[in-house]
Amino acid sequence: MYFPRPYPDELLYSLIARCRVHLGLDSHKGLLRLLFDDTRVAAITDLPTHLELLAGNIGWKAEELLQQHTLFPLYAPFIPEARRRRLRQAMLAADIPGAIGLAGSSTSRVKWPGWLRYCPLCFEDMQGRYGEVYWRRCWQAMGADACPVHGCMLLDSPVPYRRQERHEFISASPVFDRRGGALGVAGSGAMAVSGLVVQLLSLGACPTPGYRGWTRFYQVLAADHGASRGRQVKAGILWERVRSCHTSGWLACNGLLGDEPPSWFVALFRKHRNSFSFLQHITLWSVFRPGQAVGEIIREAHDMAHYPVPKPYAQLPAAPGQLQQRREHWLAALSRNGGAKQARINGGGALYAWLYRHDREWLMQTNGTRHTKSGNNSQVDWSKRDRYLVRLLIRIGEYAAEDLALPRKSRNWFLGQLPHRASVAHHLGQMPLCRAFLERYSESVGEFQIRRLTRAILEDTRQGNHSNLWELERRCGLQKGRVAPLTVGFINYMGGLD
Ligand SMILES: [Zn+2]
Repeated sequence: MYFPRPYPDELLYSLIARCRVHLGLDSHKGLLRLLFDDTRVAAITDLPTHLELLAGNIGWKAEELLQQHTLFPLYAPFIPEARRRRLRQAMLAADIPGAIGLAGSSTSRVKWPGWLRYCPLCFEDMQGRYGEVYWRRCWQAMGADACPVHGCMLLDSPVPYRRQERHEFISASPVFDRRGGALGVAGSGAMAVSGLVVQLLSLGACPTPGYRGWTRFYQVLAADHGASRGRQVKAGILWERVRSCHTSGWLACNGLLGDEPPSWFVALFRKHRNSFSFLQHITLWSVFRPGQAVGEIIREAHDMAHYPVPKPYAQLPAAPGQLQQRREHWLAALSRNGGAKQARINGGGALYAWLYRHDREWLMQTNGTRHTKSGNNSQVDWSKRDRYLVRLLIRIGEYAAEDLALPRKSRNWFLGQLPHRASVAHHLGQMPLCRAFLERYSESVGEFQIRRLTRAILEDTRQGNHSNLWELERRCGLQKGRVAPLTVGFINYMGGLD
């Protein structure tokens, strides 16, 4: 049976649509009869069924169809193993309904796009290279709004994502492209999300971390970013970081906005009882794990499933007098020993355990402040931390390089992106690699002024405007007498900018 050769990242839906065009068939039902021996097969964009039947008829492997030509890989790592198996079965088989429900996408806050989407520049490339165009998978993932190849925003086609006419496979076509104006340029947040979606789609079979693995992963992530105190996670601090990387418009469009912080975001740092969508996971990775490969993140979470999860102890009641007395004893032990760890070793173990059971919040707070006050950093391996942090700085630098809209990437800005910034700033003397990075890559006032000018000039070029030097200076907030010598050099180099 004839079936087209697949193009890179092509949707199965697209392959079937091209098949009808290549065979010159008018009737959609005729095509279904040929491919599936059944005219009632629904044309599903993301999670199609009947894969085994089709694979048998066209001489392919069903697993290959599933992994390389459907959106199954967007769901598989985020649902428990048993549900992943059932979803896979439902897609392979012809008679198990409810694939979409198993993926968790019907109940999730994340909705589907309204239309199949495309990149007009990719269409041009495809037309040139293959003589026809096709639907790519990564364009159809909700929330991934940028073309990962061209860095422009995707456009809606007139083909609905979920159709009334359930048996029609409609092929992509260059005539969709009726752009009036210029294409939107994707910001760094949008590009990061699309890049992560592409990685997820091309991952192939991977382990499923399950609720336990993801729970632990996000607890550790919070701790890495200095946002956990005991078992409490300060989700508000982390949410601010998300807000600074992604626009409100994007968050709202994808159902990710709510209270500050939204309840889904808070729930992510608690014990998982339901699965979260790929977009919710990716939103966090794009902010807190920039540059880390998706496969590595999933493996990390999978391995964490085997760490023991500490059970929260219920707090026991205590008489007020008793509480006060033990607090005083513990404070005395802390000042005698210089820190909680020493105090526990030197006979304070039972007292610690009692307070942990009866007065945990106070205990954690007291130990936390005591820790920083007494500067108990003698145990820290600074050269190891130096290597870890400089790697983080390099990743942050790479991630921030493309974004012309960022505030000045000063020494303090870089430090502010790191966990425990105050402690890092205080101990730079012991961290030569980080110091060298900051000296080399912190942005000077002049460099920052040039970046602002560059951004304004690019904006003008895109909109076909022309601004005089004084207009540019005013837009970029360059006050008379405050223009750095480097910036003056740049302006002269650009021919005075008139
Ligand atoms: Zn493109």
